[in-house]
Amino acid sequence: MRIDLHTHSSASDGTDSPAELMQIAHAAGLDVVALTDHDTTAGWAEAAAARPAGLTLVRGTEFSCVHWEGDRPVGLHLLAYLFDPEAEPLRAERAELRRSREDRARRIVERMVGGGLPISWDQVADIADGSPVGRPHIGRALVASGYVPDVPTAFEHVLTSKAGYYLPKQDLDALRAVELIRAAGGVSVFAHSQARRRGPTVSDRTVARFAAAGLDGIEVDHPDHDATDRAHAARLAAELDLVATGASDYHGTNKTTRIGEQTTTADNLAALLARRPTALAPLG
Ligand code: AMP
Ligand code: FE
Ligand code: FE
Ligand code: ZN
Repeated sequence: MRIDLHTHSSASDGTDSPAELMQIAHAAGLDVVALTDHDTTAGWAEAAAARPAGLTLVRGTEFSCVHWEGDRPVGLHLLAYLFDPEAEPLRAERAELRRSREDRARRIVERMVGGGLPISWDQVADIADGSPVGRPHIGRALVASGYVPDVPTAFEHVLTSKAGYYLPKQDLDALRAVELIRAAGGVSVFAHSQARRRGPTVSDRTVARFAAAGLDGIEVDHPDHDATDRAHAARLAAELDLVATGASDYHGTNKTTRIGEQTTTADNLAALLARRPTALAPLG
């Protein structure tokens, strides 16, 4: 069984439509794929309708969260699977996250325009086309205007928090997210928990607090984790009784990662599904 539990479509910041993503997952030989767009369930229906026979679809979302470590805010991502998309207040929180993304992206673009970069908000909004706007959409505008050759290069030189245009978003409190995902019938997994290249990460004590609050799993195998990070996350999984997952975090051409590059074992997927409080079933 080949299982990839973390991918993005054009319903957020990936470049393949949800339907195309199902075909790509199938062609790559996956048996199970999770669609986990940022802060939205908007791609679920199209993906479900396009799902080829032989491919199981796990409907998910990647939530943008924050946890205060003392007086320092640390941004982090929580994957949520098989929750009720209508459940409040989680649905309202997703809407608020999308609103915050737009506000922040407008301000980042203002900074770039002020700095003489050849893009505009209208161009970025056209590219995002109603999806929760993120830095990859700004990156595509920088590519379209000829400023950089591709989105990964845009991240390296312009979108990185070190380049001076970066602004944080107002994200969802991580402990609250864990509780709301559970209350909505879903399970939660801490995405790329040790990805230090993206910025500060939370302490092991904080992961233990998340586990006590109901966190179900932790990504061990992820393209942004080196061997040390994987060993660290695997140790946390064992110590805290969290399900260890692996996934590609595929984003189409916005990232260099291939779909199915990292995978989750069938046993671990079963363990994750067994932890659902009520829940939707995977499709397929
Ligand atoms: P945002 O949510 O707007 O802060 O943007 C973060 C998103 O940018 C992540 O979800 C990834 O899709 C993408 N990203 C982060 N780092 C990189 C990178 N080095 N290269 C390409 N995409 C990246
Ligand atoms: Fe992304
Ligand atoms: Fe993420
Ligand atoms: Zn992701």
